[in-house]
Amino acid sequence: MNFAFTEQQDAIRESVAKLSADLLAPRYRQRETDGRIEREIVEMLGEMGCLGGELPEEFGGSGLDCVTSGVIIEEIARGDFNVGYLPLLASLNGQIIAHHARPELAQEWLSGITAGQKICCIALTEPHGGSDAANLKLKASRQGEHFVLNGEKTSISMADQSDVAVVFARTGSQEQRAGGISAFLVPMDLDGITTSRFEDSGQQAIGRGSIFFDNVAVPADHMLGDEGQGFKQVMQGFDYSRALIGLQCLAVAQQSLDETWQWLTEREAFGQPLAAFQGLTHPLAEYQTFVQAARLQCYYALWLKDHDRPHTTEAAMCKWWGPKLAFDVVKQCLLAHGHTGYGEDLPFAQRLRDVMGLQIGDGTAQIMKNIIARQSVPR
Ligand SMILES: Cc1cc2nc3c(=O)[nH]c(=O)nc-3n(C[C@H](O)[C@H](O)[C@H](O)COP(=O)(O)OP(=O)(O)OC[C@H]3O[C@@H](n4cnc5c(N)ncnc54)[C@H](O)[C@@H]3O)c2cc1C
Repeated sequence: MNFAFTEQQDAIRESVAKLSADLLAPRYRQRETDGRIEREIVEMLGEMGCLGGELPEEFGGSGLDCVTSGVIIEEIARGDFNVGYLPLLASLNGQIIAHHARPELAQEWLSGITAGQKICCIALTEPHGGSDAANLKLKASRQGEHFVLNGEKTSISMADQSDVAVVFARTGSQEQRAGGISAFLVPMDLDGITTSRFEDSGQQAIGRGSIFFDNVAVPADHMLGDEGQGFKQVMQGFDYSRALIGLQCLAVAQQSLDETWQWLTEREAFGQPLAAFQGLTHPLAEYQTFVQAARLQCYYALWLKDHDRPHTTEAAMCKWWGPKLAFDVVKQCLLAHGHTGYGEDLPFAQRLRDVMGLQIGDGTAQIMKNIIARQSVPR
């Protein structure tokens, strides 16, 4: 076993951490107010090789491994959790496009995504339910050289900031369930596409919304992979994104812990620094332990992916534990800051609102536990 990061990974961590502290953290709150992420930031991340770095170099990747992509998302999310969505979406969608699009189509879009010039969202969930994704209804009907899409996707992150979407649609019958689903790469400026934005409690800089498809003609060669294979493709991609999401959330937890340990040395009560009171230090010590363990679990899942080993169960563990733990940690850190922690001058309240969303997005804890149980119950 080797728990050390490589020299290259340490160097990447250092440079992304600096960018995150200098440019991302100071505008974390402002991006919430603006309801968007500045395109200059997206382009800067692209220029630094932070978007889809593990993708093949012919598609704009930097030849990195998935563990290094974990390092990048962790450091970005330390400064601004929401900006962490950019490497997450680039990696999740990038893998699907790189593996399943025609090479020319992949080339056309991935070079823009990895350069930070294009944003790609993923559109799976529908109004009638997200957990039972194999039951989706958005219809794609073949008409000559096109598939015509009709229906609604909902709860889509960055729906109104994206240039292109990976969309899952039904090309077969409802009874075929997963086997009747295909994936398409859909430019968001096609005729018949409109979007809406929800009023959410958190992740305002990302924004969630619906995408409506009204007779949208998508070229048939924009299908990703084979007809009826879309569902299988997305599930494979989610194994990767779940480990990244764990790190994205745990980074916020670790940043909050670091700030709170410092605060305990600065604030005094009853003539002593708060650090003298075990009622404050012991909960933080427990959370420090849990965060370290959960973080190792995420890097383990990424290491398994890098070594082409199965990691569905390990990734599901990252996805339910990371966001829940991060929420609990941030809450404890907010409380340790007393009345100032509750205010918006400090980032804890926003962090709570933001990380909570990923207890649902990309699959809920119950669904993750179903996956773990399915693999664990002896047959
Ligand atoms: C912040 C955020 C970002 C998101 N981003 C995207 C995105 O970019 N793209 C996208 O396609 N979707 C996205 N989603 C949607 C998300 O994937 C779904 O919300 C999620 O899969 C759950 O679906 P649902 O909300 O329809 O809940 P439902 O499926 O209706 O479930 C409701 C409740 O029942 C529980 N439940 C359902 N079935 C079972 C079962 N078998 N056993 C135990 N419990 C069960 C669920 O865990 C949940 O608590 C996002 C959601 C959020 C909150």
